[in-house]
Amino acid sequence: MKRTGIFFTYFQGERLKDFPEALSGLLNKENVFYYDAVYGSRDGLYYLEPATEQLLLKVHARTMIESVRQTEYYESALYSAGGTVQAAEEIRRGKIDNAFAFTSFGDHHAGREFYHGMCYFNGAALAIAMLKEKGIKRFGIVDTDSHHGDGTRDIFRRDDSVLHVCFCDQDYSDGYHKMDVEIPHNTSDEEYLAKVKEIFIPSVKAFKPEYLFWEYGYDATRGEYGDKGTSHDCPMKLAELIKAAADEVCQGRLIAILCGGSTRNVAAYTIPRIIAILAELKSGSRIALK
Ligand SMILES: [Zn+2]
Ligand SMILES: [Zn+2]
Repeated sequence: MKRTGIFFTYFQGERLKDFPEALSGLLNKENVFYYDAVYGSRDGLYYLEPATEQLLLKVHARTMIESVRQTEYYESALYSAGGTVQAAEEIRRGKIDNAFAFTSFGDHHAGREFYHGMCYFNGAALAIAMLKEKGIKRFGIVDTDSHHGDGTRDIFRRDDSVLHVCFCDQDYSDGYHKMDVEIPHNTSDEEYLAKVKEIFIPSVKAFKPEYLFWEYGYDATRGEYGDKGTSHDCPMKLAELIKAAADEVCQGRLIAILCGGSTRNVAAYTIPRIIAILAELKSGSRIALK
């Protein structure tokens, strides 16, 4: 079994209203570690720390940070990004093997000087900035949110240390470490997974990152606002593939980050099952779900 960290932030919004209760079948597992922005003072729970301004300035322009500070989402954004940074640090310290980072507001539409689509700070980029300071040199990011990860691409466009493979609305390749893969409407699970196997898996094996980040948006699933036609079970198939890649190339160092998606039922159905896959808890059916 893997030791899996859950980094939970929830301040407002509809989609995470069933959490953390939907995690109840996981939190009693000895290999699952729960970090929470609110409830960390109880025994066996850990505090989740907000991102520091010092770290924010390594990724985002001061004017952009000031602009976010004026919004009502500033505190949520700090904790959202902070969870991803802390997940990476706990993996680096050897306390956990992999992680699922909830975000209220983040991640892949936040660039150096801009933000949109309810993404205020870029948690993956902040975690990579922190890891670089600790001597880590190579990173992979795979993005299966329905939309293009323009913020992440903006930050790492000229950064050879980051492989960025994004499944979105366009095809693009710089021939080395930045790729987009078009997912048309009415794509089946099999067609989507085939593209991940054909394009992402060989790329990540060749690139050999030391850490892998997965921007997990569920907005591509059927009925969501970025509907590409995939089923509610597709995220778990993706999780198995991406986890297997991380296990092979970077000793399982994988951080899944919640990106887009709006419906409560898909969040409550997929997220506990994805965490069970990360933690290698074989019987997903034992997980209590509403
Ligand atoms: Zn999206
Ligand atoms: Zn893209």
